[in-house]
Amino acid sequence: MAETMDDVFGTPSFGGARLRIFKIKDGDGQIYRILPPFKSCRATGEWAKYYSQHYGWKGVSKKDASKTVHRPFKCIEEKNRDKMITKECKGCTKVKAQIALRDERKASIDAEIKRGKKYSEADVEELMRPLEDWIKEHNIDRKWWINVMNEKRECGVLLIAHRHKAALDAAMEKLQKEEGISKKEMMEPKTGVWWDFGRTGSGNQTQHTVAAVYETEVINNKRVRSLKTAPLTNEDLQNVLANCADLNQVVRTLTADQIEALVGGSGDPEEVDAIFDMGMRSEQSATREPVTRNVKVSDEITKRDESGNVTESVATYRRELVKADPPKVEVSETRISKAEPKVEVKASEPEIDPEEAELVRRLEEKRRARAKLTKADPQPPKPAPVEQSPVLDMDVDNMSDEDIARTFGSQLK
Ligand SMILES: [Zn+2]
Repeated sequence: MAETMDDVFGTPSFGGARLRIFKIKDGDGQIYRILPPFKSCRATGEWAKYYSQHYGWKGVSKKDASKTVHRPFKCIEEKNRDKMITKECKGCTKVKAQIALRDERKASIDAEIKRGKKYSEADVEELMRPLEDWIKEHNIDRKWWINVMNEKRECGVLLIAHRHKAALDAAMEKLQKEEGISKKEMMEPKTGVWWDFGRTGSGNQTQHTVAAVYETEVINNKRVRSLKTAPLTNEDLQNVLANCADLNQVVRTLTADQIEALVGGSGDPEEVDAIFDMGMRSEQSATREPVTRNVKVSDEITKRDESGNVTESVATYRRELVKADPPKVEVSETRISKAEPKVEVKASEPEIDPEEAELVRRLEEKRRARAKLTKADPQPPKPAPVEQSPVLDMDVDNMSDEDIARTFGSQLK
């Protein structure tokens, strides 16, 4: 039995935030409750997101510089209804070219054998191996991402194959017909239901199953079968905030130029990292229209007291000059959405130079002093821990603690 993600990895800690990933294994009895859309998906109603991610380009491990780690990124290919490509992804172009090259090489080896060349099976394998290895490593992982809770009331993101999502959709339709419960109700906090996910077989023969969970009670000596519901408690909500993801932000997106640079590059891990880091700057300074704009420095930061109650929820914004290089910080401001008025300092965003950071720091100090004057606060909350790297990387199949922290740390504090 292969070890699961949970067997292998501990819980990385960065200010109380962590993300749990669930994957479907062989067999059934994998029970999950689908959570209603939240964070940025709340407005759009999206409860599941489908992502294609390119693997194979690796950077230097921050934990052990002698090792490399996958730096996956989102496939940007777009197609119209006729399956014509309307936006090219150079990652896909490269993968397709390598597959074509592999097929060509195989065909020419076969032709040589036909003409009488003595190749053993091992010879053929050796000739084909570099291309086969490259293709295997540069896999495009396509999965649906869904925030869920399991029966232990652990929350996290469930990754499922497209065929499993189709089975889930069909199971929802069936339940709607049989029980008269709407799909919305199947997820809503008070009325959600449990789903039993199963998988058997392998390859093209893999069967993906999903069924609603029922329970049987004995009432007046009669066995009564009823749909098992999963109302969310306040405690569950804390688990959701701590362990689930904003589905719009779980996958690292590179620009077309960055992807082109990666694909045309040497594949050297330091070069890969440099291309990824470049994105953190270029994405913020690429827009031309306004001179200044608000840049979200951090996502909503949810803080809890020792018993896990949310004390505040804060998002930090920075106003920066768009054309300046490096971006200049003029004003730092904080939007408070809940609880006590509170000023947030982001001490070490990588793209701010030290002088600017110092300026921001002093400004914040003044504000804090002012805030203290206006309101006596016996127990000022500690400032949020600063996440050093906002880089999002994702190796679903082989994530290290460091990767998990790097991937989700910036979203989930
Ligand atoms: Zn692609």
